[in-house]
Amino acid sequence: MQDIIIEINEEVKKVELPENLVFGRMFTPHMFEMDYDEALGGWHNPRIKKFEDLKLSPAAMVLHYGQAIFEGLKAYKQVDGKVVLFRPEENMKRMNASARRLCMPEFDEGFVLEAMKKLIAIDKDWIPTKPGHALYVRPLMIATDPVLGVRPADNYKFLIILSPVGPYYPEGFKPVPIMATDKYVRAVRKGMGASKAAGNYAGSLLAQREAIAEGYTQVLWLDAIELKYIEEVGTMNIFVRFEDEVATPALEGSILPGITRKSVITVLKDWGYKVAERKIAMQEVIDRYNDKSLLEVFGAGTAAVIAAVSKLKYHDTVLEFSKEEPGELAGKLYEEITGIQYGRIPDRYGWITPVE
Ligand SMILES: *Cc1c(COP(=O)(O)O)cnc(C)c1O
Repeated sequence: MQDIIIEINEEVKKVELPENLVFGRMFTPHMFEMDYDEALGGWHNPRIKKFEDLKLSPAAMVLHYGQAIFEGLKAYKQVDGKVVLFRPEENMKRMNASARRLCMPEFDEGFVLEAMKKLIAIDKDWIPTKPGHALYVRPLMIATDPVLGVRPADNYKFLIILSPVGPYYPEGFKPVPIMATDKYVRAVRKGMGASKAAGNYAGSLLAQREAIAEGYTQVLWLDAIELKYIEEVGTMNIFVRFEDEVATPALEGSILPGITRKSVITVLKDWGYKVAERKIAMQEVIDRYNDKSLLEVFGAGTAAVIAAVSKLKYHDTVLEFSKEEPGELAGKLYEEITGIQYGRIPDRYGWITPVE
């Protein structure tokens, strides 16, 4: 691979971050871009340049047949000022897995991670330093061939853009109401639910809209075959704390293998909890809530880290948890994982990667 060409955006003089950062609305002055052309030997022309609109044919294959994948991770300015990423090599690995599933070209994970670090270092003054703030990093890959035939494209673009973000919970770590649905499904085993593919999110919007209309912030998806087992919640993996174990749905092909999920499992085992990756029936959740052996429910994902559940609705059943306080374990996990991310707690697992 060629060296990365760096073109500094000279138009930007001063860093100005608004008081309230709404998720994903603001972008830093630079982005990373490289192109793929089978005929030119694969990935080429890697560059860091001004953040600007793309030039794309209206016939570009991504716009028609949806070969689009992405990732999401965060860069943190730690308490001592060091800029770090949380387990970025896991995101690189998962993105290549998504690429394989959608017949898109794989990339050199080490090379892209270096490009990502260079880009973040150039725009590091855009990392907000207030508590709970971070720089959201969004790598993506799209098919660019201007061809209407349905087949894997020959040409692609790989991009990384950066967005300063505030805390997921502006008013503090507050539990959220969620609604399970059997009216729609997100993904089926052997489909592409385990990939971070753009199409999965388009398919989830209608259920999300209907849940919001009923006063719930996220959809709890059930399995697509029996409509019986819980799978994941919005863009988070789900955990259920029972009296005798902490359970999370096993990764059987329809669930996104979350890096926060994986980290939560490691921390819980370390703390001596019994963790089960298994099928969890919605009925089991209801029964064990009723007999009081279900203690708390929470989601886990990069954006919120941990999201405690205040209320879980399914058909006419509503399970209620505290509206004000997260469950005990959700709170502890939030403190632990954000503690490692922001450097308040030593990185005993080797999860932190410095950017420079
Ligand atoms: C990204 C995502 C997750 C969480 O993955 P993390 O690596 O923890 O951020 C879970 N479910 C879905 C559907 C996702 O898109």
